[in-house]
Amino acid sequence: MLRNARSASLFIGVEVGSQRVQVDLLQYADDTLFFCSPTYHNVLVIKAMLRSFELVSGLRVNFHKSTVGVAGISELDLRVFSKCLNSRLMGLPFKYLGMPIGGNPRKCVFWNPVVDKIRSRLSSWKGRLLSMAGRICLIKSVIIALPLFYFSFFKAPVSVCNQIRRIQAQFLWGWGHDSRKIAWVKWKSICRPIDYGGLGIKDISCFKAGLLAKWKWRLGTSKEGLQARYGCWRDMGVSSSSSKDSVWWKDLFRVCGNVTEGNWFDRRLQWCVGDGHCVKFWSDRWVDDKALKDKFPRLYSISLNKNSLVGDVAVWVGSRTSQCSTWNLSWRRERFEWEKHLEVQLMTLISYVKWDVRSMDRLVWVGEATQVYSVRAGYSILNGESFMQSIVSFKMLWSLSVAPSAIVSTWRILLDRLPTRLNLARRGVQLVNLLCPLCLDGDESTDHLFNTCRVVQQVWDQCDRWIRKVGVRH
Ligand SMILES: [Zn+2]
Repeated sequence: MLRNARSASLFIGVEVGSQRVQVDLLQYADDTLFFCSPTYHNVLVIKAMLRSFELVSGLRVNFHKSTVGVAGISELDLRVFSKCLNSRLMGLPFKYLGMPIGGNPRKCVFWNPVVDKIRSRLSSWKGRLLSMAGRICLIKSVIIALPLFYFSFFKAPVSVCNQIRRIQAQFLWGWGHDSRKIAWVKWKSICRPIDYGGLGIKDISCFKAGLLAKWKWRLGTSKEGLQARYGCWRDMGVSSSSSKDSVWWKDLFRVCGNVTEGNWFDRRLQWCVGDGHCVKFWSDRWVDDKALKDKFPRLYSISLNKNSLVGDVAVWVGSRTSQCSTWNLSWRRERFEWEKHLEVQLMTLISYVKWDVRSMDRLVWVGEATQVYSVRAGYSILNGESFMQSIVSFKMLWSLSVAPSAIVSTWRILLDRLPTRLNLARRGVQLVNLLCPLCLDGDESTDHLFNTCRVVQQVWDQCDRWIRKVGVRH
């Protein structure tokens, strides 16, 4: 119906992006959104279409539940439109599919509902009822479930991330048996994966960047409507953001890093060449992890094909299904002998590249077997996991089939982060003395308490006898 109205020029939709893509209708589940230029005629056409739909289908449109929102026209016109459609007026920001539309995600107030939700889920009374293992479990589940929706689309400001981190840390440490609220382990260490000595709690800053980068991956790899509005990933990588860009686009640009900040995202992208119509011969990475202009700077400097695509300079042979026969590269002057050697090296290098010209060029994510970017991979890079060493004792610890609370206690013992008198004194807690209250022989350190204290040794010996095994201490 709408298509007919449009082709008969009865209905004028909205054009978006530089490619002027016409958007007039979006439908999701049982929601329908019309977009049109703000004229009374368009409103009448929408009303007529909805009424016709009612007559044809026998269904009723609930106009009272519908809303009208307009930008750039007078209040009076808006009221006329809403009266015509018998619908309520819609203010900004409004919610669609649970997302606030029209708010400014750079302002902390935008994030208040998310922060409040996390705070209420990680409230103090729950903390008091749970063991530390239980609290860790709750923190993990809350952070995964709750704000994902917001974080996967909007870039949260640093202050909001800090606020969330503080709530998590307070919940983790604030209500234990050691009620002094000391953060015994740095948050950065807590966010390490469990095999690397952490608790595997997600760091919200890295997580949000990993989530947002997924959009950039989509822009580069799918031909959906996003590209029409925002262009493709190349525009993001090469051009700096302009004032015309939306907040979302600018934030995405920042989250993936740009050339000067060390672009963690683009560095791991490589082209898999198909027909060669997207890949730049010299400046894109398509042979290996380096662009040819960086591998052969001398040849690049005398090349006349600096901006040519692979498809432009390849001379295909036969059925064009696997490899090209020669490369049609031109130079701005006669080459020296040593430059000709370089050219031979270049030709040898690219002769190893295999491709199928029947398919299109596509981007692949280096370092993943699936060649597809995943939030997990992005998070791992941002969390610096490639520089971490897995630690055997932690690996073994978390694989044990014992109560989670015992595992968490052992984790703290291994890190020497128990509230022993020595550790408390190190953190500035005033104590009468540091002596072990069991034997009064030495300072109460973790090693003393679990190993060298003579009273504790008696307990270990009892245990040894009880399970009739020697060496249970180890
Ligand atoms: Zn002792």
